[in-house]
Amino acid sequence: MASQVTFIGAGNMAGAIIGGMIDSGYLRDAITATSPSDEMLAPMREKYGIHTATDNAAAVAEADVVVLAVKPQIMQDVCAGMRDAIQARKPLIVSVAAGLPAETLEAWLGGELAVVRCMPNTPSLVGAGAAGLYANAKVSDTQRDLATELLEAAGLVEWVDDEGLLEAVTAVSGSAPAYFFLMFEAMEEAGVSLGLPADTARRLAMQTAFGAARMAMDSDKTPGELKRNVMSPGGTTERAISHLEDAGMRRIVAEAMDACAARAREMA
Ligand code: NAP
Repeated sequence: MASQVTFIGAGNMAGAIIGGMIDSGYLRDAITATSPSDEMLAPMREKYGIHTATDNAAAVAEADVVVLAVKPQIMQDVCAGMRDAIQARKPLIVSVAAGLPAETLEAWLGGELAVVRCMPNTPSLVGAGAAGLYANAKVSDTQRDLATELLEAAGLVEWVDDEGLLEAVTAVSGSAPAYFFLMFEAMEEAGVSLGLPADTARRLAMQTAFGAARMAMDSDKTPGELKRNVMSPGGTTERAISHLEDAGMRRIVAEAMDACAARAREMA
């Protein structure tokens, strides 16, 4: 029998995970999503055929897993409103909220709970997410497998064994879609300077990024080997890569990711 999963919050992130679960065959009848207004819930019912509710405490009463998918700034109030129901049931808590430590969530929900924290990213919305997960000591192996199953429905899942490493995950994948969007902008602008129409340059740049990622993921070669394979001595690619290396591309990426992780630490 499928575990009963209740999503607190029925916005973008909940929708991404629920959509993935349904696509991968999870029992619709075992999924509930909540929101204060039925306006957000009606499309969830129509699109996914899941249960919906406006009362969080009632919706967690039979849950095996409660996914916290509301904005961090309202999380404390939301937790307070369902603390008694959570304590009566003691479900696995999975939080996708940025910056809220497992210990804080556990305390807001009354203590002594198995908590998994997840740092997802926006490509989850198209089923191609990358998420880092951390489990506190109360999470059992079965619960860990269940969290993996739920979150893999929206993309890749990688576990970290130290909660502090979620800040590194934020730098490597949580915030990283925007690094690539910046690269697309820069490549489009440069393509236009070289005479291409903007939309042609944009499509070529995006397809190339997609193809390079696909090729690297399917290959047993390292990215460094794949890069060397397309750099013939004295050729065009070698000239471009030398320029990027000489201009400090690696240092710039490292500094940007350090700044990202530092900001994540400040917000925790
Ligand atoms: P969102 O689209 O705004 O969804 C939040 C949902 O929570 C809305 O449906 C909102 O309903 C609902 N809500 C508000 N008050 C509630 C309550 N008392 N009980 C139940 N539901 C309530 O936000 P999101 O982008 O999905 O983000 C959700 C969480 O995911 C955040 O904690 C964020 O840090 C995390 N996250 C998101 C992303 C991302 O790419 N979007 C990436 C990483 C992490 P109303 O609209 O009616 O208020």
